[in-house]
Amino acid sequence: MNENIRCDQSKCLYCGGCVPICPRDSITLKGTRIEIDDSCNRCLLCLRICPVGALEVLEAKA
Ligand code: SF4
Ligand code: SF4
Repeated sequence: MNENIRCDQSKCLYCGGCVPICPRDSITLKGTRIEIDDSCNRCLLCLRICPVGALEVLEAKA
């Protein structure tokens, strides 16, 4: 579980569009679940590609 990006599973269509766009290969589509690992560097490309706005930036921990 990463602390950068979260996928709202209630919005996600599992289209897989965000997977190849990630320059760090941080996103994996596993059946009906998007997983984002710690290699994410918050470039936010995935947020821009998602057609339904399912991906959200998490606030940095204090
Ligand atoms: S913010 Fe960038 S690095 Fe992180 S999961 Fe999205 S596309 Fe990949
Ligand atoms: S682009 Fe959006 S809707 Fe498609 S798999 Fe990724 S998070 Fe889900």
